[in-house]
Formats: sequence, structure tokens, C-alpha cells
Amino acid sequence: MRVGIIGAGVAGLATAKVLSQAGHEVRVFDKCPDVGGVWSRTRRYPGVTTQSPKAQYSLSDFPMPKDYPEWPSGAQVQAYFAAYATEFGLDSALRLDTEVTAASPAGEGRWTLETRAAAGEQSSEVFDRLVVANGVFCEPSVPRYPGLEEFTAAGGRLCAGTEFHDAEQARGKQVLVVGYGKSACDVAVALSGVAAGIDVIARQLLWKVPRKVGGFLNFKMLLLTRMGEGLFRYLRPRGFEKFLHGPGNGLRRSMINSIGSVSVRQFGLAKLGLVPAGHMEDIVRGAIGLASEGFFEGVQDGTITVHRDATITRLFAGDDGPAAELADGTVLRADLVVCATGFTQGVPFLPEDTQTRLFDERGNFMLYRQILPPDIPGLYFNGYNSSFFSPLNAEMAALWIAADLAGAVARPDAEAMREAVVEQLAFMDDATDTHHCRGTKIIPFSMHNADEVLGDLDLNISRAVRATHWLNPVNPAAYRRMTPSLLRRLAPGPSESDSPDRPRVLAG
Ligand SMILES: Cc1cc2nc3c(=O)[nH]c(=O)nc-3n(C[C@H](O)[C@H](O)[C@H](O)COP(=O)(O)OP(=O)(O)OC[C@H]3O[C@@H](n4cnc5c(N)ncnc54)[C@H](O)[C@@H]3O)c2cc1C
Repeated sequence: MRVGIIGAGVAGLATAKVLSQAGHEVRVFDKCPDVGGVWSRTRRYPGVTTQSPKAQYSLSDFPMPKDYPEWPSGAQVQAYFAAYATEFGLDSALRLDTEVTAASPAGEGRWTLETRAAAGEQSSEVFDRLVVANGVFCEPSVPRYPGLEEFTAAGGRLCAGTEFHDAEQARGKQVLVVGYGKSACDVAVALSGVAAGIDVIARQLLWKVPRKVGGFLNFKMLLLTRMGEGLFRYLRPRGFEKFLHGPGNGLRRSMINSIGSVSVRQFGLAKLGLVPAGHMEDIVRGAIGLASEGFFEGVQDGTITVHRDATITRLFAGDDGPAAELADGTVLRADLVVCATGFTQGVPFLPEDTQTRLFDERGNFMLYRQILPPDIPGLYFNGYNSSFFSPLNAEMAALWIAADLAGAVARPDAEAMREAVVEQLAFMDDATDTHHCRGTKIIPFSMHNADEVLGDLDLNISRAVRATHWLNPVNPAAYRRMTPSLLRRLAPGPSESDSPDRPRVLAG
């Protein structure tokens, strides 16, 4: 089939690689000039690194370079994904600098894509199937503060973290960073060396996990294992999880909360007045809050000031220049306001009636296995399973799509799939206090998702290797035989020339 893919982040690239190996012709559109999505040079903020260590943020059959640090920089991750595209022969399938402006059903599961290149030319192309991999952390959500016009006229600048690429632009300025997630803290640290002062406006303090717990133990040993995932109760607990959430509940709680108390001690949070409310278990409510290197040290030495439980109520032109007022009446000088306040998840290129069928009444994406809208023919999603191991989950979803294109997924009927999605969403509402980004984030249940996706394909790594992932970090490389295994099954007895290692992509 000819498959159109929207997005050349890791989800789009992994899909393109697997589908081309399965014999499909793929074309990948991205409005950015480079591949890598959130790691593109057009979206990297100063100081961005992965949260997951490099081995956990790798695709199964393409390790990150040995000389990369444990937490690679944004530029390194982008280079890694560019190398992946080249290694698997995808470069000729890429249409970069090309935005998909509309995607509409063309009958029998086919889709017409309208595209507009950066140079202005528009075109239209029909594909047999469509995979949407447009990223759920792609479009920044920036608060609309009253007074923006006056503030800007006074020389102030308001932008999203993803729109701020050069720390030098903050030199000598008074900077406000809005948010308290990893991105906000990364930006604060990166600008603290050049700005005149940094104020972090934190609506709610979050628990932060040290990269090295207690100063020596890589957090991946605690949280990026199957045991770490098992500490959070899943919809369908299995095996040892039943113990952890039954007789072993006390042990489980103390394991999670001990990470919290270590973090309080390690960062001196009590002295800094930055102990979050609630328990470490609340980590499940959002993405993993890995502490940014140097953040609490900056608070300690006064280069970074955190305003906790605070929000900006307006921007304005103060006597001395652009300024912001907080809800408690505090007024802060603000030459630059960088918002790391999250993203909006949307599919503006899909027609309204398709969107109506895609969302539930609360705007959650209705995707079976995070991949398939139950009753929209020919449409798949990838990357709507954002996790602690996003590349691996995207790759496993790509396998599911390849199998489904071959009619090899024994999936239930549309009604049963819809019921399964409703049940999953209700569970995630409860487990994450609705912080699942409209059904697109599966944290902290990354491996449960991978198991279910592979379970549909009657594939998985051996029990013995999975058992090692209970105490050791999950290693995506352990999954490198999944693609060849599936491809062998989809095309029994391939000849040499049909080898799955030889991708086929649309030329020209
Ligand atoms: C700062 C940051 C750090 C992160 N760190 C980690 C981490 O450590 N570990 C982890 O597991 N996850 C992490 N994530 C989650 C991250 O989103 C995933 O790891 C992954 O990069 C998402 O890939 P994607 O391909 O789904 O989406 P993206 O990388 O967002 O790519 C989507 C692409 O689609 C393109 N696109 C969108 N709309 C259109 C259109 N209409 N036409 C053409 N192109 C379009 C965009 O330009 C973009 O390039 C992080 C996210 C962020 C924002």
C-alpha cells in the first residue's frame, strides 16, 4: 500500500521504517526543516536533554552512539533520529518543510492529503492509508494574559519554551519562567548563567526525582523497571503486581514514598521551602518529574527564585519597563516571559465530522491500543502513547499497524473496541487524576501498553528477559527481534531479495 505519514518525529520515522520493511511505500510529511519532532532545531529550548537515559530512549535496533552522555542533549537526539532515517533508507521518503493542511477520506480507507511546502507550493495526493504521527507535545499552550499588548509595546517578550532557542537573547534580562515541569526548570537553569535574574512562577510544586537518587543510584534502577511500573496499580494487575497491590501494599507505598523523602533530603527542599504537597505517589499524575541538574543549587545560591502556588494575573508596562503581576499582588520586572506550560493536542487537518468521531464528549482521543480509532476507516495514530520509553512504544505501535494493514490483528469489532477505550480512559482518569493529556499519555504504564500491543500480535520477548526487567531498567534493545519476527510471519518464506532489512520507500 501507499501510506502517508504525518510527522517525522520518532513515531513517524519508526512507522515509516517498519511499514517500508513490510513492503509498503511510505511518504512522510513534516512542516519542520529537519526530522526529530520535539528535538528539531526549530523547537529546542536551551538546556533541553532527554529525561530518560539514552538506552531507554533508543529504538530497539539502533542504539544511541556510545560517546553520547547518559542524558543526551536535544541536538544529539535530533542527530540520532536523522541517522536512523538514513540508516533505514527513509531519506527519499521524507517531505520536510511541508505541512499537511488537510486530510480527508477518499473512500475505501483511502485519504487525500493537501500539503503546502514552505516555499508556498501546494499539492494534493491520495494514499491508501494514513498514519497520524503529528506529536502530542508539538503545539505549545501559552496562557493568554491580559495586558499582553501593553507589555509587548513596553519591550517585553512572551514566548513558549519551544520558541526560545538562544540563551544569549536573555543576556542581562529579567526573566520569568512559567511552569515547574522539567522544561521550565531546564530553561531556568540554562538562562541563569546569562540573565540578570530568574523568577520561576509555579502554580503547583511537583515532586522531582533526582537523576542520581541519594547521589549515586541512577533513577532508572528504581522507576524505569517493570517493578517501578508495578508500583502503580494497573487496570489489569498480573503476577507479582497482585502481591504489590494486595498483601505487599505497605511495602509498595514505602518504596515510592522513600524516593520522595530522599529527594527532600538530597535537595534540601525543606530549607528552600519547596516541599510539594501530597506524596511522591502523586508522580503518577503527570510526567515523571526528573530534577534538572543545577536547579535547586540555583535556588540555593539565589540565582533562581521560585514563587510557589503562584500565577500571573496580568502583564503590563511598569514604570521601569515591562512587568508582571502575580495573584498575590507581587509585581515583578519581566523583560522576557518563557512559558513552559504544556501543549495542546489536536488534529486540525482532519475534517470536523472525522474529529467528532475521534473524540469522546470530553475531548479525549478514542484510540484502541492508543492507535486505532474504532470506526474511521484507513486511519491510524502513532505517538499517542507517550511514555517513559516513547521510541520503544512508538516502534511497537508501528508493528501493530503493519500487522493490521496485513489483516493480521485479531481485533474485536468496533463496538467492543470503543468499550475497551472507554474503560481504559476511565481507569486513566482515576489513576492520573485526569492528567493523561486527553488520552495520549500512558505514563506510568508504558510496558503494560507494550505488552498489550505485542499480545495482540502474539509476540513478545521471552519471559526470562522480561523477568530481568523487573529489577533492571527495561532495555529497548531486547525488543530488536520483534520486527523481523513479525515480518517473517506476515510474509512467510521471504526470498533473499525480499529481506526485511531492505526497506522500500517511495522514490522521487
Ligand atoms: C522537551 C521534551 C522532552 C521529552 N523527553 C522525553 C524522554 O526523555 N523520554 C520519553 O520517553 N519521552 C520524552 N518526551 C516525549 C516526546 O514527545 C516523545 O519522546 C517523542 O519525541 C514524541 O515523538 P512524536 O513523533 O510522537 O512527536 P513529535 O516529536 O512531536 O513529532 C511530530 C512531528 O509532526 C510534525 N507535524 C505536526 N503537524 C503537522 C502537519 N500538519 N504537517 C506536517 N507535519 C506536522 C511536527 O512538526 C513534528 O515534527 C519529551 C517531550 C518533550 C517535549
